[in-house]
Amino acid sequence: MDVGRALAAAEPTPFWLADPAAPEPAPALTGRVSCDLAVVGGGYTGLWTALRARERDPSRDVVLIEADVAGGAASGRNGGFCAASLTHGLGNGLARWPGEIATLERLGRENLDGIEATLRRYGIDAEFERTGELDVATEDWQLAELAELARQAGETGQNLEVLDAGTVRAEVGSPTYLGGVWDRDGVALVHPAKLAWGLREACLAAGVRVFERTPVRSIAEENGSLLLRTPYGSAVAAKVALGTGGFPAPLRRLRHFVAPVYDYALATEPLTDAQLASVGWRSRTGVGDSGNQFHYYRLTADNRIVWGGYDAIYHFGGAVRAELERRPATFELLAEHFFTTFPQLADVRFSHAWGGVIDTCSRFCAFYGTAHGGRLAYAAGYTGLGVGATRFGADVMLDLLGGEETERTRLAMVRSKPVPFPPEPLRFGVVQLTRWSLARADRRQGRRNLWLRALDAFGVGFDS
Ligand SMILES: Cc1cc2nc3c(=O)[nH]c(=O)nc-3n(C[C@H](O)[C@H](O)[C@H](O)COP(=O)(O)OP(=O)(O)OC[C@H]3O[C@@H](n4cnc5c(N)ncnc54)[C@H](O)[C@@H]3O)c2cc1C
Repeated sequence: MDVGRALAAAEPTPFWLADPAAPEPAPALTGRVSCDLAVVGGGYTGLWTALRARERDPSRDVVLIEADVAGGAASGRNGGFCAASLTHGLGNGLARWPGEIATLERLGRENLDGIEATLRRYGIDAEFERTGELDVATEDWQLAELAELARQAGETGQNLEVLDAGTVRAEVGSPTYLGGVWDRDGVALVHPAKLAWGLREACLAAGVRVFERTPVRSIAEENGSLLLRTPYGSAVAAKVALGTGGFPAPLRRLRHFVAPVYDYALATEPLTDAQLASVGWRSRTGVGDSGNQFHYYRLTADNRIVWGGYDAIYHFGGAVRAELERRPATFELLAEHFFTTFPQLADVRFSHAWGGVIDTCSRFCAFYGTAHGGRLAYAAGYTGLGVGATRFGADVMLDLLGGEETERTRLAMVRSKPVPFPPEPLRFGVVQLTRWSLARADRRQGRRNLWLRALDAFGVGFDS
């Protein structure tokens, strides 16, 4: 298979963002504005926070300030798996917060139901399909792990179906599948950019003032308020909510906890009816495979396959730059894996290839906190599973800013922080060693070396 030929015509841009539904950017902030709440960042975290703030208190004057365009970063370029899990999967949540996992799972389901209800209420067409997710095993050792996952889920009252190879292949036709576990209700698929644009529109309709192409350069206390400086203006806010994802945050302490990690994806051209029939996939479920380095893939509304994951690339010093969104070596690897999974699609070409930044933290799920005497709240560190969880994070930030004690703010998950990453150059070395060890474990029937076992013992790690 000549993967170069299959990739040759791929646009180096996210399929989701190259859509005629993309809105015109709002004007940049000029002059000095004041408000009750300034939200920094126009990804899902910021958009949900601004919208929920207005929903909770319609008299609150809310401003949203986005460095580029709302939804232009991770929120508009992800796989669109909108999961109920708030903990980057049940296994991670159970290992860290066994005593509260049942509550976390319930809150996660309520959150996913809340997203679905919000889309309906505002008439947001984000191509929401509650298809579930089918996790497949492609190596024998993964079968035992999936069976264990289904058992754990059963203990928290969920029903994950364990499927044998024949049943999985009858659903999605790949000769690589050895079995799988299907969570039919805990995951929905969305068009990620349309979700961001729809939330942005809902914010505007709710009276949020949105400024785009306006990076917040600094945040400082001034006469009992917070002053946010931007290139051509400033905002004075009683409260600030920070949702800056994997980008260097204008709150330095967050940089110890968040490492920007690049994740990459491809989209195929729309499959013909015959090509689609050769795979089956009638349920249109999202699919993930089960290595430490895993792929996630799904159909789009026009029957392309979006195929992403596997590589998780960290650049020395936490570099975040537009040119890092293009990585031919990773695109080739992803294409190779695609054709191994679906040899019957050998004549399919890719239309788009892109990357984006993931806000990775050492516990793999978001952490929360306040600064500036409780006037500023932040939520970051979603580590590749924030499409759904960011709405929960928005509510946590609003609880914290309101000084309210709620079921959310009482959670140990909300009150604790991840272990910080070490400073450079150690950080880069630690990440490379962890990546190497994870790849090796995948080649050795999942066996984890001393380094990974040490990280496990300390409850820390590196993931996309
Ligand atoms: C390729 C890829 C695939 C993914 N797949 C999935 C998936 O299938 N399911 C899932 O759940 N998650 C997935 N994720 C992760 C998910 O996209 C994120 O968890 C989620 O979008 C995080 O939203 P956010 O608002 O916190 O961050 P972002 O979407 O990154 O938004 C942060 C925003 O803040 C802005 N900003 C930064 N600094 C400043 C500043 N100083 N001033 C003003 N604005 C600023 C940025 O421009 C950006 O728009 C994926 C991510 C990537 C990159």
